[in-house]
This record gives sequence, C-alpha cells and structure tokens, in this order.
Amino acid sequence: MSRMLLGVKLAIDKRTQIESAFRICKEAFLEVSTVLINVIEERATMSSTNLSAGDIKKVVVEALNGWDRQDEPKEKSSCGVCSRRASGRDGVRGGTYASVAGSLGSEVRVSRGPTVELSDTASFLIMPKENMRDKYNSSKITRETLCKVLKPADCALKIRKLTNARDGGVRIEAYSPDIDKVKAHPALAGAGLEVRENKKLNPRIIIHGVPKEMSADEIRSELIAQNLDEYLGKELRTIYIFKPKQNKQTVSCILELQPAARKALLRRGRIYLRYASCTFADYVRVVQCYRCLHFGHIAGDCKNEPSRGHCAGAHEMKDCARRELQLKCSNCVRQHISQGDTGHSAMDATSCPILGRKIKDRIAYINYD
Ligand SMILES: [Zn+2]
Ligand SMILES: [Zn+2]
Ligand SMILES: [Zn+2]
Repeated sequence: MSRMLLGVKLAIDKRTQIESAFRICKEAFLEVSTVLINVIEERATMSSTNLSAGDIKKVVVEALNGWDRQDEPKEKSSCGVCSRRASGRDGVRGGTYASVAGSLGSEVRVSRGPTVELSDTASFLIMPKENMRDKYNSSKITRETLCKVLKPADCALKIRKLTNARDGGVRIEAYSPDIDKVKAHPALAGAGLEVRENKKLNPRIIIHGVPKEMSADEIRSELIAQNLDEYLGKELRTIYIFKPKQNKQTVSCILELQPAARKALLRRGRIYLRYASCTFADYVRVVQCYRCLHFGHIAGDCKNEPSRGHCAGAHEMKDCARRELQLKCSNCVRQHISQGDTGHSAMDATSCPILGRKIKDRIAYINYD
C-alpha cells in the first residue's frame, strides 16, 4: 500500500517536472519570438533598414542568455528592444495576482526603453492670481508668502520639495497631496494666491500582432468589447497604426486610454482582438531626429548636420560603414557624460542616460494612476 502511494507520488513529481519543463520551453519560445517580432518591427519604424542577420542572431542569443538567469528579477528586457511585459511572461510564469498587480502601480515598462519607477509624489503650482502679478513679481516673494499663510499641517501636506516656477510661481512636490484641500485653504486665496495643476495626459500603449485588416474604429470598438467595458473604454483612442510589413498579416498600433483601462489590461497581460492574442507594452515617445539625433524635432525639419548614430562620424546612421564596430552616442559625447560611458546608440533608450532621462521627464506628465 505504502509502496503504491509512493509510486503515485513519484508519478506526480515526474509529471510536475515534465510540466514545468514544458512551461519553461514555452516561455523561452515566447520570449524569443517576442524579441524577433520586436526587432522586425523596429527595423520598419526606425531608419536602420539594413538590419543584418548578425544583429538578429545577437538579440536572440542575448534573449536566451537572459533566460538562463530567469529567476533573477530583470530590471529591463534582455534584448533592449522589447519590454518584458510585452512577452506576457508574468502571466505565463504564474506570478501571483498580487505580485503582478502590485507592480502595476509602481512602474512603467517602456517599449524599447527603460523601466521607470513611478514616483509616489505629485506636484502642483502655487501661482499669484491674475490681478496680483505685480505684487508677486518673483517666486521668492510668492514662496515667502506661501510659507507664512499655509501651514503644511492644515492640509496634511508631506512636502518633498519646493522649487521656483515661471511667472512668480512655486512648485510643490509632495507625497500623495490632497490638492483639493489646498485649493480650499482660505488664507491662500486671501493672500492672492491660487493652486494650479497641470493636467496629466492619458497613457499610451503599443499593441503588437493586430490583424492588419482592422480599421482604427474597429480596433477601438472591438478592443473595448473583447477586453474592457464601455466605462473603461470611454477615453480609448487609436492614435496610430503602423504600416504592415510585406507578407505580414498583423501590424502594431498605438492606443491612448484611461489609466484604469491600462491597469485592467496589464492585469490580464494580453489584449484579445478578433482571433488574435496580442502582446503590448507602455509606449512613451520622445521626439528625436533620426538624422542628427537631437531632440525636439523630426528629420523632416532638421537643420543640423546629419550624423552620429554609431560612430559619431558626420553621416546618417544608415550610411555608417562601422555599424558592426564600436557604438558611440553623439549626444553623450557632446555632453561629456562620464568618460567611457558613450558606447551606445543615441536612440537606445535603455542605455543612453540622456534619452532615458527624457523619457522619465515625459512620464512625469502622464497619468498612470
Ligand atoms: Zn535633426
Ligand atoms: Zn559611422
Ligand atoms: Zn547617449
């Protein structure tokens, strides 16, 4: 009897082992395929159209190497082009609901970019009222008055930082402030000051594997019907649909949606559209010129010398003969970022500290609550 029980137990152990081996294979396969999809998509959206077989081999090897260390929590994706969330691994790996949900509120995993911890502070402005501009002609005066009339204890304010803002304003950064309470503070209004909030933008996501025949309207309405509800889908907009690659039946597209809708989708890990199960990731874009690699304009409006993607030589990245050799980021070179740390592409958001910071700044204006 006991032997039989032991036999059953062994069989169960064996079965568990086999199942987990299968699961690991499946996860590795998902990871590699996601990496490949992202690389191919990157090829089309970036100007680097001459992606070589060597490049593809490199990212696959990196993805698989990363896989060996699967128990270590990874800061960012192994390949640098896809966010780990996009691979759907959290879901497949069976992380508990709480651990998955717990991470949702605290970070943004940017597609082709860094994972950014969300700060638990919010900021708002104290500005002189329209007719009080003359009295408060500098932030210093506003700040002094503010400190006199508003006791942080009145509004349970946990202030992290006060900084000067434009037009005689003062910016307050505080831990989960009750801004309505500050707004209603009588002494503040009495002193001719008012609270101003900058309205944060809705988050955007990029979805991969969307059936290419779907129109923007169909993506919107069917995504809501299959994944959300009317309430959560209220502010959902299709922002952009990438052009389909030759022979591909699917496209990627960018959506904007309410924070709560983003969280609902992240919790499930996948977006279902028609018969497809799509991966997705947070999408944060910083305007960057593919010609000169500066920020704030696009190549069509570029008035600078072309250059400096790979080797910091004066030519466009796609013309660089030394692609396979040492990378050099011209933005970091120009800003003399700590010596030796310029060996990356200026468009590599995971490696370039300048681009990474720009993305972080951008994220501060997006509402992920
Ligand atoms: Zn430019
Ligand atoms: Zn070059
Ligand atoms: Zn850089």
